[in-house]
Amino acid sequence: MKLAIAFLVLLSSLLPDSSTAEDFDFFYLVQQWPGSFCDTRQGCCFPDGAGKPAAAFGIHGLWPNYAKCRGRHHREGGGLARAVLGADDAFLAAVGRRGKCWPEYCGDGGQPLSPWDVRDLVASLGRSWPTLSCKNRRSFEFWSYEWKKHGTCSNLDPHDYFARALQLRERHDLAAVLADAGIVPSDTDTYPVDRVRDAIAQGTGFVANLECNRDADGEAQLFQVYQCVDREAKDLIDCPLPMPTKCTDRVKLPVF
Ligand code: AMP
Repeated sequence: MKLAIAFLVLLSSLLPDSSTAEDFDFFYLVQQWPGSFCDTRQGCCFPDGAGKPAAAFGIHGLWPNYAKCRGRHHREGGGLARAVLGADDAFLAAVGRRGKCWPEYCGDGGQPLSPWDVRDLVASLGRSWPTLSCKNRRSFEFWSYEWKKHGTCSNLDPHDYFARALQLRERHDLAAVLADAGIVPSDTDTYPVDRVRDAIAQGTGFVANLECNRDADGEAQLFQVYQCVDREAKDLIDCPLPMPTKCTDRVKLPVF
């Protein structure tokens, strides 16, 4: 009997405690320019049934993040590691040699999203958070992946997680913010990256981090904007971490 109790105590100490609140520091609301997703070598596809999304920034995710990586020997903050590494390296950064820069797959490893949880948000999510992946053309799969990996660590229930991401995105139309500063989609023009950064700071009231990728010719283009958000996912804040990126002095905003 004693042995059985000892075994149960040991087992419960090894299992993750799903009632524990995650102690991340802030969220990144990551929005991406679809033209910069599509004109890389990987290309893109449009969601089944929905056709080509609007030429607007779409949500990639709402990601809990630490202000400083934790554990293992590492020299970089969470934003830094996120920005300079590719997707596979970013995974290593999350769990491997650099320590843990953000929480992921929380609770019991990431509960799947139920369509029922977001039934009243599906139309808005379809417009504002569309998949562009050719491997999976169903946007729901993309939302479910983001929920499992990041949303389960947000201390929010699935409905609030998606509703708050949508509300934050609706507050500022980043394409309009850039257009107000004369930064409009073009396949020929380039813009000083500082002008892009200043336009977003002025138009939204907060400094964001920028991520660039390369088009098929190797030219740098604005890919994702990382806006920083408080722990309740309600208000923007200035990003607490700098984010060295692959952006060059001038960047493109390709036509979509
Ligand atoms: P994450 O693991 O949350 O950093 O997201 C990275 C994954 O999301 C990669 O597999 C990307 O290919 C994928 N991804 C990024 N943007 C999109 C998009 N618009 N549609 C579908 N998948 C995407």
